[in-house]
Amino acid sequence: MSDRTGSKQNRATLRVRAGAVSTLIASAAVLSASLLAPATGSAVPLGSTESALGTGGLNPALALAYTLAETEAHNVGVPLSITSGYRTYEEQEQLWINGINTYGGPDNARRWVLPPNESSHVAGDAIDVGPISGAQWLQANGNRWGLCRMYENEWWHFELATIPGGVCPAMLPDASWG
Ligand SMILES: [Zn+2]
Repeated sequence: MSDRTGSKQNRATLRVRAGAVSTLIASAAVLSASLLAPATGSAVPLGSTESALGTGGLNPALALAYTLAETEAHNVGVPLSITSGYRTYEEQEQLWINGINTYGGPDNARRWVLPPNESSHVAGDAIDVGPISGAQWLQANGNRWGLCRMYENEWWHFELATIPGGVCPAMLPDASWG
């Protein structure tokens, strides 16, 4: 199973890199927010401290990157919102138990849901978004803020996985590869 091991290592390296650039992302994002901020009153609720709905509990760099992306999506008329962001250990454990029941065992369940100690949602490092049109827009444009779709079988799941303006890593087939 060297392929799986390799992909785990790549993923781990990627996470370390994403962590290392989060300060850079945060600075760049704050700068972008101030550049985007309207000089006078506006219908856009953009105050630089305003975070998008659903970003509570997330890694601050992810919350900021997503907030900027969602603001831009709405500016260009694309519907986009978080359907699931940070989850507690207990919430993820219930999802995991439900997944085992739904998919007939842990091996199949892992393709769709991970146990709480492995879930990037519990770590505050992942968001699920909707509707599908918004997710498709984010897949095409999210790299501007470092946001990437991670799995071929989950059109809704995004993480901070590159530097702003960088290239997103190749998608993994499903979460069991992560
Ligand atoms: Zn997810």
